[in-house]
Amino acid sequence: MALKKKKQIKSKPLSDYIFPEHKKMPENEFRIDCFNRCVIYTVNRSKRPQQFSQPKVVKSTKPADCVFCQGNESKTPKEICRYEERGKWQIRVIPNKFYGVHPAYEKAYGRHEVIIETPEHFKTFSEITPKQTVKLFEIFQERYAAHMADKKVKSVMIFKNEGPLGGASLEHTHWQLVSSDILYPENDKYVEYFKNYPEEQLKRWLDSEKERFFYKNKNVVVFCPYVSKFNFEVWVVPKKLSIDFEKMTKEEIKDFAMATHKAIGAIDKMLNFPSYNIVLFPSEKGENLQTHIQIYPRISNWAGFEYGTNCAFNSVLPEVASQELKKNIKR
Ligand SMILES: [Zn+2]
Repeated sequence: MALKKKKQIKSKPLSDYIFPEHKKMPENEFRIDCFNRCVIYTVNRSKRPQQFSQPKVVKSTKPADCVFCQGNESKTPKEICRYEERGKWQIRVIPNKFYGVHPAYEKAYGRHEVIIETPEHFKTFSEITPKQTVKLFEIFQERYAAHMADKKVKSVMIFKNEGPLGGASLEHTHWQLVSSDILYPENDKYVEYFKNYPEEQLKRWLDSEKERFFYKNKNVVVFCPYVSKFNFEVWVVPKKLSIDFEKMTKEEIKDFAMATHKAIGAIDKMLNFPSYNIVLFPSEKGENLQTHIQIYPRISNWAGFEYGTNCAFNSVLPEVASQELKKNIKR
């Protein structure tokens, strides 16, 4: 029996691709940075910055039912440390009850902690005092040093998930810390960049971001990076090479804390307390990343293209985002 002839699908030639309406639109732009991070700015979809403002998330848990609120300390695992004022805790560190790593695990070694930066249920990170923010960062430094002192530990990640789109499971604001005996492949790009002549590399990188700086103090700069994978993404970077978070001076830690607090304050003011993630990248054991913080406001969702390519569509140019955030910095 003769095979049936396959039906041909006839497409238009690629040269026909530009339709008249395309010609009126501004052009999009791919960017790749010195760490090989990639983004496509979709300028033709851009909205005015004010249109990104979010409806504020209303907290529905009553403080009496919240395990992180004052008075409910007995409902959490045993406290690791606290910072007190007038006999009341202001910051508490506890083991995470729902840990992902554990010192007794052979194949997922590490420790998982929760850092609660305020006893007040309805406060957010940007609403705690500057003094408390500095204390919080001093605690980060102390916990980082404590975990790194464990010979098996290779990396310590400190992060914050805020709001439902940021993946927060409890609405009382808090941070988490995960120490582990692995180096994260995702950080290789930074290690690679700073491998040789790290001071020169830091200077080259920060010079390339200079036009987007929107806040700086003596030791730290804040900017929306050339490759921003999220709308209004912000990075907080020490000006000096900082290969050991543990060794940052008291003054450097203070400036690092204050710059992060100012950045979140500007994001909250401009976008009306959106969901976000903050990630602190300190150096890993034996590897050199420049200690820095990345902040991802979670306004639009990542979807198939982003997950598949690790290259995001972003409708706000970082040059525009930094100008807008600068207007919202509290002086
Ligand atoms: Zn609470």
